[in-house]
Amino acid sequence: MIFNELYPWQADDWARLQTLRGRASQGLLFQGLKGIGKLDLAINYARSLLCVHPLANGCACGVCPACHWFEQDSHPDFRILQPESETEEVETAGKKPSRQISVAQIRSLSDFMAMSAHQGGRRVVIIHPAEAMNSNAANALLKSLEEPPPGLLFILVTHKPHQLLPTLLSRCLAFSLGVPDAASATKWLAGKGVKNPADTLAIAGFSPLQAMQSATEGGVEAREKLLRAVRQPATLDVFALADALQKTEQVQVVQWLQQWCYDLLAQKLSGRVRYHPAEAAAIGQLVVPLDALDLARLQKYLQTAKREAQHTLNPKLFFESLFFTYCQLTKPCHL
Ligand SMILES: [Zn+2]
Repeated sequence: MIFNELYPWQADDWARLQTLRGRASQGLLFQGLKGIGKLDLAINYARSLLCVHPLANGCACGVCPACHWFEQDSHPDFRILQPESETEEVETAGKKPSRQISVAQIRSLSDFMAMSAHQGGRRVVIIHPAEAMNSNAANALLKSLEEPPPGLLFILVTHKPHQLLPTLLSRCLAFSLGVPDAASATKWLAGKGVKNPADTLAIAGFSPLQAMQSATEGGVEAREKLLRAVRQPATLDVFALADALQKTEQVQVVQWLQQWCYDLLAQKLSGRVRYHPAEAAAIGQLVVPLDALDLARLQKYLQTAKREAQHTLNPKLFFESLFFTYCQLTKPCHL
């Protein structure tokens, strides 16, 4: 298994986790912002629970047979359940990989649960992301959480705990991961060769892994294109911009536009910006003739658009209507 070591901003989370090692709790719910390394933390924790000789700080030793099996993806006491879309890159026979965790996947655990542990009695199942379980899957899991085999720990990983069944939540011990401190996240990004790490981190909503992803996926260039255009709504060419961005992920574009519009409204109401500190002056000028109510409408519209962005079949058409609405609601109101 390819996994990352602990991230520098996770030291406190890791120390808190050590106090839970001895607990008999059958379900842990890892919750926190998207893109801060929740899954990596869960995997490291699972590896350390299964390790025969964990180090003094609780980390797995990396040399014992259990650690070796873990790295080879063959530890008999460990399972990880994810939607196909997280694990399969390629579409098979024109069918898109499922974004859900199915009831069949949960049921596939029954053999695993019926067996006893091979090593030391601990076993771990990670479910990621937990909100991807459909209701049948969640109900099937509920049964296992109610009568768990001894020594079995479920770790549910989510950034959307409100989407989980209340009955599921009530059977898990919530473990909230801290918000990464900007200093260590910036340093980490710089160490990975990311240019302007502080800005990149802010744009990604202070989520370091999202920042890393956008820096490596050519996202920076696409975002620049978008910002150049939306800075001047009066002359924005909706069709040209939609054309230029049609290969960029729709949800991502909506998010950038949300951040931009957040700053427009924040500047209008409080004279401050959050995501675009370098452009504060330009934003200040842009919002003078704009109506705060229109900007609030724009934000509301973007929330809906973000949901639609996940299902849209025609990116170009979607972007055209997105940018058209942006232009409509950023027209000067009283000139
Ligand atoms: Zn070990």
